Amino acid sequence: MMKDYRVLLYYKYVAIENAEAFRDAHLKFCKELGLKGRILVSEEGINGTVSGTVDQTQKYMDTMHADERFADMMFKIDEADEHAFKKMHVRYRPEIVSLKLGEEDINPNEVTGKYLNPKEFREALLDEDTIVLDARNDYEYDLGHFRGAVRPDIRNFRELPEWIRENKEKFMDKKIVTYCTGGIRCEKFSGWLLKEGFEEVAQLRGGIHTYGNDPEVQGELWDGKMYVFDERISVPINRKEHVVVGRDWFDDQPCERYVNCGNPACNRQFLCSEDNEHRYLRGCSHECRISPENRYVKEHNLSQAEVAERLAVIGESLPETV
Ligand SMILES: [Zn+2]
Repeated sequence: MMKDYRVLLYYKYVAIENAEAFRDAHLKFCKELGLKGRILVSEEGINGTVSGTVDQTQKYMDTMHADERFADMMFKIDEADEHAFKKMHVRYRPEIVSLKLGEEDINPNEVTGKYLNPKEFREALLDEDTIVLDARNDYEYDLGHFRGAVRPDIRNFRELPEWIRENKEKFMDKKIVTYCTGGIRCEKFSGWLLKEGFEEVAQLRGGIHTYGNDPEVQGELWDGKMYVFDERISVPINRKEHVVVGRDWFDDQPCERYVNCGNPACNRQFLCSEDNEHRYLRGCSHECRISPENRYVKEHNLSQAEVAERLAVIGESLPETV
């Protein structure tokens, strides 16, 4: 059965003149339609995720497709029970995905990896001479990824080029295939790999999202869930089987539940069961657990004595007060 709401995920690298004026008009337009979400606008293009009713999202897609700059823009559509955002933001940024390449910046319309459709990508996953590289952040990988994919040890996409340079000899003679959530990060990243000297570079067109919705492939060889940057936090991809790959930060048990570290200065996202969240005061480290700003402690109105009691159970204590 069709649900009442939809979430749209889309991007397009295309020259937008007067991007800041475009941003203002676009925000007004989205608000009038009743959409909620987050859109980034730049001179190099547009990158958005929005939610709305079937009717609202349809009007949005039709209007965008009527604009010649976005006539061939691909929308990835998820059905939903409600909005996936609380507000509507349209923001101007120098880049629609922050790779911060500076002078090495890539225009994907000039150089980018070969596009693979879901079927071709599945073949690449099974090919021993191909390295499949996850172009997302470590916490996204940890919740779910393609079977056998390489996990870059980075907390932010901007760190990816440096990580590649450090590990270059491992990949140099191989075919490389990259993937990300909706395809946008790979547009620049695969282009950068080509410029960096890698010869055979391909990317999953439309990202994991398109792969999961392909009627034939049905998300095969994807394990876990896909992290998404809205209130849903994660969505299923593999429609044939569900293998949990996420592991609890504290006890390494299978887990697909994300929390943000209680210490606002840290805010690390990690997987953690409800029991362990209470046990460890939602802190990823001792330092975060005892932070005077710990949001868990505040939300639960714990006294210092109660905090000390919880810490004692896990063999920790509050620092001595001088
Ligand atoms: Zn922390």
